[in-house]
Amino acid sequence: MPQIKVYTTDFCPYCDVAKRILENKEIEYEEINIHGNPEMRDHIEELTGRRDVPQIFIDDQHIGDDDNLAELARSGELDKLLEKEEGNTLGHNNNTIEERNVIIIGGGTAGYAAGVYTSRAMLEPLLLVGDTLGGQLSLTLDLENYPGYFGDQAGEFVNGLKEQAENFGTETRFEYVTEVDFNNHPFSVKTYDNQYVAKSIVICTGASPRTLDIPGEKEYGGRGVSYCATCDGFFFQDQRLIVVGGGDAALEEGIFLTKYASEVIIVHRRDQLRASQIMQERAFKNDKIKFIWDTVVDEIQGEEQKVTAALLRNIKTNDTEIFPIDGVFIFVGHIPNTELFKGVINLNDQGYIIVDEKQQTSIEGIFAAGDVHDHVFRQAITAAGTGAAAGIMAEKFVAELENRAYPG
Ligand SMILES: Cc1cc2nc3c(=O)[nH]c(=O)nc-3n(C[C@H](O)[C@H](O)[C@H](O)COP(=O)(O)OP(=O)(O)OC[C@H]3O[C@@H](n4cnc5c(N)ncnc54)[C@H](O)[C@@H]3O)c2cc1C
Repeated sequence: MPQIKVYTTDFCPYCDVAKRILENKEIEYEEINIHGNPEMRDHIEELTGRRDVPQIFIDDQHIGDDDNLAELARSGELDKLLEKEEGNTLGHNNNTIEERNVIIIGGGTAGYAAGVYTSRAMLEPLLLVGDTLGGQLSLTLDLENYPGYFGDQAGEFVNGLKEQAENFGTETRFEYVTEVDFNNHPFSVKTYDNQYVAKSIVICTGASPRTLDIPGEKEYGGRGVSYCATCDGFFFQDQRLIVVGGGDAALEEGIFLTKYASEVIIVHRRDQLRASQIMQERAFKNDKIKFIWDTVVDEIQGEEQKVTAALLRNIKTNDTEIFPIDGVFIFVGHIPNTELFKGVINLNDQGYIIVDEKQQTSIEGIFAAGDVHDHVFRQAITAAGTGAAAGIMAEKFVAELENRAYPG
């Protein structure tokens, strides 16, 4: 039996992804949570050269992070690796096509809001989560601006939303959609493991962090370059960090990083922030936070697989400076997760799904909600609002198809 070890920290959505891949395949593993354990943190960095989690080992062979594990699972290599050791079959590709009333693609705020509405309408929706349960909210700790929610924990909020949707009959599956066919009805959706058809689809695939696309960014990914403060902040105890960006996410995550770092320097390309007033006040008051204005990062430099400096350029004077740092956290906006829908439904120039006032896309019966179509507000409350609207419209569409009264 191969021994699988997964090194994780608290509040790490990518760690959850790795664990879920293994659990879906009924593979036993040992979880080693390194949160608050500097020796274990240093040990893992020594073993892998990486400053991020999760890190996964099979029989002491380092196989990488959740992306590497997902790739192994997708390609069938993971099964082979384990079959070779075990002589049994772990793959379970299912060739039957399952029929559903409504499929919701995406398990963030919008997806689960659509789940609450469609399951209360007794449609027994199937919600395909992809790789991030809770979506972008699982990348942060705090949620203070969701009206009516008096806690301040993003994770707690997302868990509550999921539980509420599931209590009414939403079924969650941890599957990633790889292909859709919306030309024929019922609509068809494929994942790595299964095939489905549904009368109506609600797309809530949200958005992913935008990268800077500069030299060194990919090379030092996980070796000092990060997009998730709650996941990787712990690796930067008493170190000096740059946060790139000037919006709410940059300030919120920058403030969080001061728990660990000796200094957090916010590098912003303008001379004022885009963030809300309350976040600005908190950041300006924090002794560990400094600002560098009108400046972009042109390159991330490193030595021996670790970030050591950033090449900064003032966009007004064009002066450059090699700025010594230990890590770069990047929060410069998002790109919509719509690759799957290119050429299938209408997207705008920036790749966001175009919907009408009833959340309907260019195909009747296909709805979209949340950050996948909203490039203006991009908030949990607006994602929930449009998710609810899309759920209501999916219910109406199915009722009309079946010649039922709406609401039923
Ligand atoms: C660091 C940070 C801090 C934030 N803080 C706040 C805040 O304080 N207050 C606030 O209101 N908002 C905040 N936001 C914004 C908020 O998180 C988003 O507006 C909200 O999460 C959007 O929800 P969504 O459901 O549209 O998309 P997402 O949250 O992006 O969820 C998308 C879902 O789709 C799934 N998915 C993607 N592709 C596929 C596929 N092919 N198959 C299956 N599933 C797929 C993903 O796994 C995920 O579950 C923050 C965002 C970030 C990044």
